[in-house]
Amino acid sequence: MSITIKSKTELAIMREAGRITHDAIWYAGERLKPGMTTLDVDKLVGEYYARHGCKSAFKGLYGFPGHACISVNEEVIHGIPKASHRLKEGDIVSIDTGAAYNGYNADSCWTFPVGKITDEAKALLEVTEKSLYEGIAQAQVGNRIGDISHAVEEYCASRGYGIVRNYCGHGIGREVHESPEIPNWGKPGRGPRLVAGMTICIEPMINARGDDVRTLNDNWTVVTKNGSLSAHFEHMIAITPDGPVILTES
Ligand code: MG
Ligand code: MG
Repeated sequence: MSITIKSKTELAIMREAGRITHDAIWYAGERLKPGMTTLDVDKLVGEYYARHGCKSAFKGLYGFPGHACISVNEEVIHGIPKASHRLKEGDIVSIDTGAAYNGYNADSCWTFPVGKITDEAKALLEVTEKSLYEGIAQAQVGNRIGDISHAVEEYCASRGYGIVRNYCGHGIGREVHESPEIPNWGKPGRGPRLVAGMTICIEPMINARGDDVRTLNDNWTVVTKNGSLSAHFEHMIAITPDGPVILTES
């Protein structure tokens, strides 16, 4: 599939989809507490979308059952919301979701603490979030995808963190996953050139230790191979002549 370039009108729709997505994530994220199940978290996301006249783009995507992927602690991505999975104090919870709105999609993820978390977890969240913004800073007209990839990798690897290599960011628009792929590692100056009107998702998935992951036998949930914590931060952004514009903000 080729890279799609969006008009101003399309970008305005995607900004609205992005705003609702951001607000749905934070609506659920600010309500996390010990004893809640990951299905409860998913319900909050679904409720928020319903109240704002849209649907989750994730529900049914490739057969996914939830409104959001809810991944806890060593779960990296694609956690299935479960009535049997109860949150506890000290967990870190990634809420990955996107609104489908007026024919376009958004996609964002944020990792939240449940109550008081360890210093190791705090540092992981901080480094992963910062690496997202390092990547976004490179999302300039004329740069290449590799410039984003390299910035994320350099920031995390130089601090001793593991970079998940089996999954990556992506273009987005009428489809949730469009070209190009945006890996969280790579060489500067490589890959497709960024042009105004591209909309992309940058999404570092970073492990406290080690790069390796495996998929559980639910065929969805991806976990770190060594059981270390993992964090995931994602923004959908537009490439513009004035620099990157984050679409998944309020
Ligand atoms: Mg994504
Ligand atoms: Mg996502």
